[in-house]
Amino acid sequence: MHTEVDILSCPTCGAEVGHTIRHNGFKAAATSIGPPLLRCTSCDTLVRSGQKEWEQQNAASKAWFFISRTAWLIAGSFFVCGGIAGVLNLIAVDRKWIDDANSTTFILSTYGFCTLLLSAIVLRNSLAEIRASLKRSQSDEARNMWREANPLPTATEFVTDAND
Ligand SMILES: [Zn+2]
Repeated sequence: MHTEVDILSCPTCGAEVGHTIRHNGFKAAATSIGPPLLRCTSCDTLVRSGQKEWEQQNAASKAWFFISRTAWLIAGSFFVCGGIAGVLNLIAVDRKWIDDANSTTFILSTYGFCTLLLSAIVLRNSLAEIRASLKRSQSDEARNMWREANPLPTATEFVTDAND
């Protein structure tokens, strides 16, 4: 698997403000959950990361998050669990722990158990990612950065003459 790292640098001073890791084979599974604004630690400039927190994502992006995780899970189950079940079966038959007649049942139960475990891990990690995102968006730091990047409009003053 080929891994790429996108480095985000500050437009003012060029310092690295963040990075995104992309796994080539699973580009579709890459999500864009993350802080939309990053502060450069060298010069304090606010930089847009191109990411969005969970709270700011629309329904389609939220659905895509779960669809891509499911796709990742299916691929992981096929390659990882399929491989583990196959290798374990070879060892078990070779060592005569099981006989050939029980081989299919052994493979299926190993595969099923592994997939169940993998599903639990993926679900747990995905929910943890969402919770971490919600926590970040509610932090004072995030609110302050947002306010700084999108200044509140000043109310327009209307002067009315009461005598008119
Ligand atoms: Zn900077």
